[in-house]
Amino acid sequence: MTDCIFCKIVRGEIPSRKVYEDEDMLAFHDINPVAPVHFMIIPKQHVDSLAQVDDSHARALGRMMAMAGRLAREQGATDGFRTIVNTGRVGRQDVYHLHIHIIGGPDPLPRMIAGK
Ligand code: AMP
Ligand code: ZN
Repeated sequence: MTDCIFCKIVRGEIPSRKVYEDEDMLAFHDINPVAPVHFMIIPKQHVDSLAQVDDSHARALGRMMAMAGRLAREQGATDGFRTIVNTGRVGRQDVYHLHIHIIGGPDPLPRMIAGK
């Protein structure tokens, strides 16, 4: 997916504020944060969305979830956070490269995210 914006971020062709990187994943700050802590964890291997995920992605996705708590704490979400994976048209996904939003901060979030 050469024209995918998040693949370009993975390849370093578009700058990002990196939070973490290893062979499976990249985490970087959202360019339009909705809370004091707002970054995304993405697989380096392109997959459009959670709707396209299968067993071949299980290792990377499992590792992404396993990293979430540590990275959230390191970014200042020390007392919890929200994970959001917008998926497809109905899920209001804008960027079609799977990403896990990690959203938090010192104060409790609204019970649900209202439509934007
Ligand atoms: P969604 O696909 O609806 O889950 O949202 C995509 C998210 O990607 C939005 O929160 C955007 O602010 C974010 N985003 C889009 N382009 C960039 C970029 N170049 N760097 C960082 N975040 C981005
Ligand atoms: Zn991509």
